[in-house]
Amino acid sequence: MQRDIDRILIPSRQIAERVGELAAELADKYAPAGAERSCELTIVAILSGSLIFLADLIRRLPMRMRIALVTVSSYPAASTKSRGARLLEQITVDVAGRDVLIVDDILDTGGTLRAVRAELARRQPRSIRTCVLLRKPGKAPPDVPADFVGFDIDNYFVVGYGLDFDGLYRNLPDIAVLRPELYTSGPGGDRA
Ligand code: 5GP
Ligand code: MG
Repeated sequence: MQRDIDRILIPSRQIAERVGELAAELADKYAPAGAERSCELTIVAILSGSLIFLADLIRRLPMRMRIALVTVSSYPAASTKSRGARLLEQITVDVAGRDVLIVDDILDTGGTLRAVRAELARRQPRSIRTCVLLRKPGKAPPDVPADFVGFDIDNYFVVGYGLDFDGLYRNLPDIAVLRPELYTSGPGGDRA
């Protein structure tokens, strides 16, 4: 697996540090000093890319929470080019009147967050905010904001820490850039 990596973009130590800071920002927003018990957050996490981020983040948050998982597909198999976001099943958690935090791995074109946000907004939550580990520059339109962002990165296709290419590399502890020949050749090699 290591042989497929071109370089490490964000090492695991730096990810852990930033996740801790993000958790502190979230705690400040939702459960300011002493109010942890009155706050109850509903986290809607987008699978599969956010799985490790979610697991690390929620264990650093002090407030009561419910967690719902949704699966959104936008990258068919060995592709690095989004084909538009599609919710693979209905969101069943009750969000009416609740504070909802959507957690995703990357904000790229914004299609994924827009689809999930629209679906949740119809159910009249008290608030909806979004938290992403990574944000790529300039592509997401202003109607798809990220309220909490781990890292801004350049326009690379990255893997590791939950992020995959063709289902692989999610278990890498770091966020890394693949060797370009792995995704610029073959049937799925349609990177824009
Ligand atoms: P968007 O819908 O904002 O264009 O893309 C967001 C989704 O595409 C993310 O949730 C993520 O699953 C996937 N994605 C976007 N950029 C990358 C990337 O560089 N690497 C990987 N593995 N997935 C990405
Ligand atoms: Mg995703």
